[in-house]
Formats: sequence, structure tokens, C-alpha cells
Amino acid sequence: MAWLGKAMKFLGGVLLVVLAILVANTLRLPDLPAADGAKFPPIKDLDAAAKRLSAAIQIPTISYGFANPPGGNRFPDLHKLIEESFPLVHKHLKREIVAESSLLYTWEGSDKSLPPILLSGHQDVVPIEPGTEQKWTHPPFSGQIADGFIWGRGTLDNKQQVMATLEGVERLIAEGYKPKRTVLLAFGHDEEIGGPLGAHAIADLLSERKVRALFSLDEGQAILEGVVPGASRPIAQIGLSEKGFMTLQLKAVAPGGHSSMPPPHTAVGKLGHAIAQLEANQMPASLAGPGGDAMRSAAPALPFATRMVMANTWLFGQVIIKQLSGAPSTNALIRTTTAPTIIKGGVKENVLPSEATAIVNFRLAPGDSIAAVKAHVGRVIANPDVTVTEGGSHPPAEATPTADKSNPGFALISEAIRGVEPSALITPGLVMAGTDSKHYTRVSGATFYFCPARFGPDDLKRPHATDERISVANYGEIISFYLNLIRISTS
Ligand SMILES: [Zn+2]
Repeated sequence: MAWLGKAMKFLGGVLLVVLAILVANTLRLPDLPAADGAKFPPIKDLDAAAKRLSAAIQIPTISYGFANPPGGNRFPDLHKLIEESFPLVHKHLKREIVAESSLLYTWEGSDKSLPPILLSGHQDVVPIEPGTEQKWTHPPFSGQIADGFIWGRGTLDNKQQVMATLEGVERLIAEGYKPKRTVLLAFGHDEEIGGPLGAHAIADLLSERKVRALFSLDEGQAILEGVVPGASRPIAQIGLSEKGFMTLQLKAVAPGGHSSMPPPHTAVGKLGHAIAQLEANQMPASLAGPGGDAMRSAAPALPFATRMVMANTWLFGQVIIKQLSGAPSTNALIRTTTAPTIIKGGVKENVLPSEATAIVNFRLAPGDSIAAVKAHVGRVIANPDVTVTEGGSHPPAEATPTADKSNPGFALISEAIRGVEPSALITPGLVMAGTDSKHYTRVSGATFYFCPARFGPDDLKRPHATDERISVANYGEIISFYLNLIRISTS
């Protein structure tokens, strides 16, 4: 039995080597940065600022879809409120109304040779889902300030960003601050339907003027507290890219007739099978993109065992992918997602439908192309009776590099975050939904997505849903963030 002893020794040796590699890789991860930086001084007159945000929430600038005017024609009211709320902004900055309702402000810098910064946000909000109005603690367009929160549609998406940016500028002007670098503020009015009018037109205008911003900053990522399991610190993700978007229509055809003598598969059956196949055969997942980067960068704040797993994707890659695929929020980080959202077919219970249609919405991960997803869909459905046509699409944004030394955007935004939350672990991130920045990327040297709204586990479900709210204290931090970001980026 000597061979057995030798084999065991060999196996033990191999295990030791593997263990050594695992630990070495784990120790090579960057340390958690110190959490004792200086905070920016608190914002003065915060209650008055909260009231101004509340007033903006009370104007229901709802975008329903392409059939209705964006914002329900309420933008003149919002613009009037903004003008009255920020007199210094309107005295010192040039304001242009673009595409009827979008706002572009220019705060001229003293050094024209410097590229400007572009801060954006959007004025429109999504509707309240019919039947959920009564579920709100305070009515969705009341802008109620209660229990330390400002409540209502737009407090997280995205009037807090528009109003806080303007608060920041108003206060800087009041202090006598004069930027060296020009500051551009772009507030679109139809972001919730893709920004085809507002942000698109603003980008056209800036492009005509040959503007190329040093960096642009839009909505999309936030400060996560207790959201990443086991994380010992708040995690501030700065989004570096946003996912793409594609809608496909599937149409199944079959002979019509009486339902008493059906063929083996009706149009409804064929369509149902095609959808089931698409759900069962998802686009492949990968840890190589910005979603994987976001997970890996959070590792220093995680318990040792999790850190070891994240530091050794060469061994645990498939385990990690399986784990992340298990929850919708993490699954969307690592792959192009597939969501059948609308289905139609048939007119009467005893009539065989001659056709049935479905809409399937895809969100493309950076690295996947529109053509590749279409090819995948064709292969998976593989049925000549089911045709696929494209409804609309835009490709995923190319990721902004964090380590691009020629662009200090990431470092400047990080510095402003640390002034608000010194203990935050700052990581790159991936924006799952679409933003107006898909239009602004062409006039910006680097695109970032971040606003320091604090999201706990309970808050992720609030945007676009019930009980959207922001704490007054957090709103003060958001104002402080934009005020100081403008100062450090333009002085
Ligand atoms: Zn938004």
C-alpha cells in the first residue's frame, strides 16, 4: 500500500500549492482605503432647499410614452419654479431652452482654453402605476416633507439631481466663486422615453459648437449601504458605462380554422415555445466586463472567504457566475438580459389564430453587439414559422476607463464622494437602465454615472415604484457633492 501513501502525499502537496495561490491572490487585492477623510461642511438653509425640491415634485412632469407629449406639458411651470428658486443662476448663467422644454445652462469659465464639464439630469418622471396610488405613505405628487424625508415621484429619479445641482451653483455664486473652467448643465425633458428629443438636441447643439467636455456626469449609480451582503463599508459605485437596449417583435403564423380540429401547434403554441426557448437559453454570462469589475472592486470590503473567492475567478469563475445569475439584480450585471414583456394573439376561444405576436426586450451588456444578440435569438428559436423583426435599439456604451491618466474625471468625482462619505469604498459600476448619457457621450471625453443618493436594501425598489423618497439629510449631501465637485473641477 506504499503507492497509496505516496498518492496521498502528492495530493496533499497539490492542495497546499492551490491554497497558497488562493491566499496569495487574495492578499494581492488592494487594501480598504482609510475612512477618516475630512467631510465637507454641512449645507446651510437645508430646510429651504428641501422645500424647493418639494415644490418641484408637486409639478407632475410625467412622460407616458411616445403617444403623449413628454412631461404632460407641465415644463413651463417647472421652469418658472426653477427661475424663481435660483435667481443668481439666472442672472449669471446663460439659459437656453432646447427642443421646447429641455434646459441648457452655460456658466462661462474665465479660461476659455480649458474644456468644460457637463453635469446632466432630467426633468421628467415616470407615471404612477394605476391602482398603486393608495399604497403611497404620502401621495406621489404631494412633495410631503415628513419623518425626515421628502416624498414623491422624482425624489430619487431625478429631480433631486436637477435641483441639487442648481442649489450648488446658486450657493457658489453667492459666495463669489468664479469658475476657471466652463460649467454646462443639461437637463433633458424626455429621458424616461429615451431622450430622443431633449438630450439628443442638446448633444447636437453642443456638437455644432464643437464642445468636448473634460467629463460628463449623469444619473445611474449611488451609495449602497447594506446592499452588498457582508460589505463592511458603504459602497459608492461610479458607473462607467450603461447597458444597451433592443426590442424584438416575434410573430408566429399558422393556418386559421375551427378550434375543434387544431394542428399540433397553433400560432399561440409556436410563439409560446419560442419564448420559453429564449428564457431557457440566455445569452452567456461573463465576469470580464464592467459588471464583473464592479463585483471584484467591492471585494476589499467583503469578508475574507468572499474576498478569496472574488480574487480567484480562475478557479471559482463558474461558481460566482452561478451565484450571481441567481438574483435578477446581479444577473443583469454579468449578461445581456432577456425579458418577454408583451404578448398578443387570438380573438375568440373557438377560432384558431392565424398569427400571434410578442415583444421581447433585451438589455445588452457591454461587449455584446446588437448583431450578436439577434443571431443568438435566430439560433435559439430556429423555427421558420416564427419571424423576428427589430423594434428599436441602441448599443451598450463603451466603458470609460478609470485609469485614463489624461482624464481626471474619476478622481475628481471620487474626491467629491469622500467629502460626503469618507468611509465609502469607491468602485467602478455598470448602469443597468438607460440614461440621457447615451446622447452626451459624443460630446464628452469621459462619461460617468453617479449621484450620492444613499440606497439601503429597502430603497432599491423605490425608483419607478411606490414610496419614492429621499431623506432631507441625504439631499443636503447631494447638494454638497455637486457644489464641491464643481469647485474642485473648475478652480
Ligand atoms: Zn432617471
